[in-house]
Amino acid sequence: MASLSEKIKQKSFELGFHKTGIVRVESLTEEENHLREWLAENYHGEMQWMEREPEKRAAPELLFPGARSIIVVALNYFTPFEHEENSSKGKVSRYAWGDDYHDVLKEKLRELLAFIKSENEAAEGKICVDTAPIMDKVWAARAGLGWIGKHSNLITKDYGSWVFLGEILLNLELEYDTDKVSDHCGSCTACLDACPTGAIVEPYIVDSRKCLSYATIELRAPEFPDEITENLNGWLYGCDICQDVCPWNRFEKPTMEERFAPRTGNVSADLDEILALSPEKYAEKFRRSAMKRTKLAGLQRNATALKKSRKK
Ligand code: SF4
Repeated sequence: MASLSEKIKQKSFELGFHKTGIVRVESLTEEENHLREWLAENYHGEMQWMEREPEKRAAPELLFPGARSIIVVALNYFTPFEHEENSSKGKVSRYAWGDDYHDVLKEKLRELLAFIKSENEAAEGKICVDTAPIMDKVWAARAGLGWIGKHSNLITKDYGSWVFLGEILLNLELEYDTDKVSDHCGSCTACLDACPTGAIVEPYIVDSRKCLSYATIELRAPEFPDEITENLNGWLYGCDICQDVCPWNRFEKPTMEERFAPRTGNVSADLDEILALSPEKYAEKFRRSAMKRTKLAGLQRNATALKKSRKK
């Protein structure tokens, strides 16, 4: 008879997740130290929420008392489209082309948790997708889904790094995955070499203050530092340079998740259209889109900076 762990993995597969691993909850002492060192260097820039309770990030039982196991899932989001080379347009990061992944993953994880409860009525769980203070890439690596590359993203052998991660913290003991995927970056430095601002300051360490993704998504300042504006390389929202050059992304495969298909104008967005958006039109156009994170003012700041960078 199949164990609960096997049933969970089968159900996860049926729900469309591409990879699933299960690990025991443990404190991430070494990772907490790395996080504290990273914060001490101010590599988190203005992301002050990163400073809050680093001990909680390293100890899932503080986030969900009674947590015994973590179920980690990965969902491939690659779709075979390319950016337009057009000076009136700005490139959007691949992760934001379709519907907001938070909604898609949460919906599937809710179904997975309901299934677990139907199998064991004592089950209680907490769903995490990106916003909860949990070290998702660390847990994904521990669960055998892949390894954390020198660009700091999780890389899977079969889908590259184009995967979204989600977790369920569960109060039950399960059978655990113990096989890890070893680091396959080897002597490659393609991502470090390609980053136009040198944001990967050393292998596995990203200085957010230099990162185009951070600047165009997380930074709330009304203008970019010159070094960012000068190096936008056509990016309006996010940046995929370090992932685009990664040799492991030659294993990309189109996702079957239809909600990740690009929305009209979301692969390469028209800058004048962005600059002309009213708050109402913006809310309508980006409803249920991950691109809402910058808010209208941030997106228009990005479009203005991109136009300025092209005039030089
Ligand atoms: S580009 Fe090379 S060094 Fe960077 S994450 Fe990919 S394999 Fe690792």
